[in-house]
Amino acid sequence: MQQVRSAERLGGAHTSVPRIPEQMEALVKYAEPGATLQTVPVPPIGPTDTLIRVMAASICGTDLHIYRWDQWAQHRVHPPMVFGHEFCGEVVAAGSEATRIGVGAYVSAETHIACGACYECLHGLQHICKRVEIIGVDRPGAFAQYVAVPERNLWPTDRRFPPEIATIQEPMGNAVHSALAAPIAGATVAIFGAGPIGLFTVPIARATGAARIFTVEPAPFRRQLATRMGSDVVIDPGSENVVSRLLEETEGEGVDVVLEMSGNPGAIGQAFSALRHGGHVSMLGIPSRPVEVDLADGVIFKGATIHGISGRRIWDTWYQTRGFLESGMDLSPIITHVLPLHQFETAFDLVASGQSGKVVLLPNAS
Ligand code: NAD
Ligand code: ZN
Repeated sequence: MQQVRSAERLGGAHTSVPRIPEQMEALVKYAEPGATLQTVPVPPIGPTDTLIRVMAASICGTDLHIYRWDQWAQHRVHPPMVFGHEFCGEVVAAGSEATRIGVGAYVSAETHIACGACYECLHGLQHICKRVEIIGVDRPGAFAQYVAVPERNLWPTDRRFPPEIATIQEPMGNAVHSALAAPIAGATVAIFGAGPIGLFTVPIARATGAARIFTVEPAPFRRQLATRMGSDVVIDPGSENVVSRLLEETEGEGVDVVLEMSGNPGAIGQAFSALRHGGHVSMLGIPSRPVEVDLADGVIFKGATIHGISGRRIWDTWYQTRGFLESGMDLSPIITHVLPLHQFETAFDLVASGQSGKVVLLPNAS
């Protein structure tokens, strides 16, 4: 570690911050399905970096792709790699130029490290940086006791939010970004896919003034959660004609806003069919292959507006996310499981099963 200021070296000014060991437990990805919990060196930090002791790290759909070692993961990830990118924790060391936030701070982080120099970054659009580097995908991540993060990516967080809430600010930000991209106040809103991010959009759409919220989701457990979070109508695409039902619910007009949070090709087709003329679609879900859409009837003649949603706007979305949490929005029912890191196999099985909302790992729990 070079040029590090740690709690110890600051003369015990932050006595609550534990000593930094040289080795740590981490979930390492190799070029095969699954992952290996092993002892690895605590990551070194550079002058503009901080070292975070991870208090909670939640599992994202991307982590499941990496865990399963599917085609996307094989092309993108270079093993061996510690993965995991949604997290919160405490700053335990800071490089010589990382002087803004300080050792002892409770933080989450924007996981997309923008280059700061490309056309988009220079135009205030860091969330679509062409040379983005993602924590836990392109560089060592947070399914570990410690993670190294550039100070400029840290998001200081109020300690009144427990670790399992602080860690979900990142995916909640995806939901906030998707929902607020479209004009939701007084509108009918259809959410396709009640995975954790789709579930987050339910109270966000409600708080933003949605008139009625419809959620489409095949997994019964997640439909129940959607109802609990405030969905007015939940639709099972396996047993109902989704488009007919949405037209029926909107007096034949179609829905004003679609939040596409599934990435499922069938759902994407239904989303455009159920959209009213002049409607808006926020597309966050990532299809695993190119998808055919009826552009003429679904988009062009409808005069539809499509918003592609990538990550979170930096830092606009983070401020909005914090605002929703500070207003008292309770997302705790969506966090269905909190497990120590060594139970990662159970955790990933739960994520794959659809019998879960957000699953959170605790890398420093015994
Ligand atoms: P998830 O996989 O847990 O949720 C997707 C949900 O869609 C599941 O509950 C699934 O049962 C449901 N679904 C499947 N078929 C459906 C259908 N025909 N109709 C309606 N729902 C259907 O994932 P998540 O973590 O909630 O993320 C949601 C999506 O967003 C994923 O595709 C993920 O890859 C993507 N994502 C995008 C970004 C981004 O920046 N654009 C960031 C994070 C995640
Ligand atoms: Zn850039």
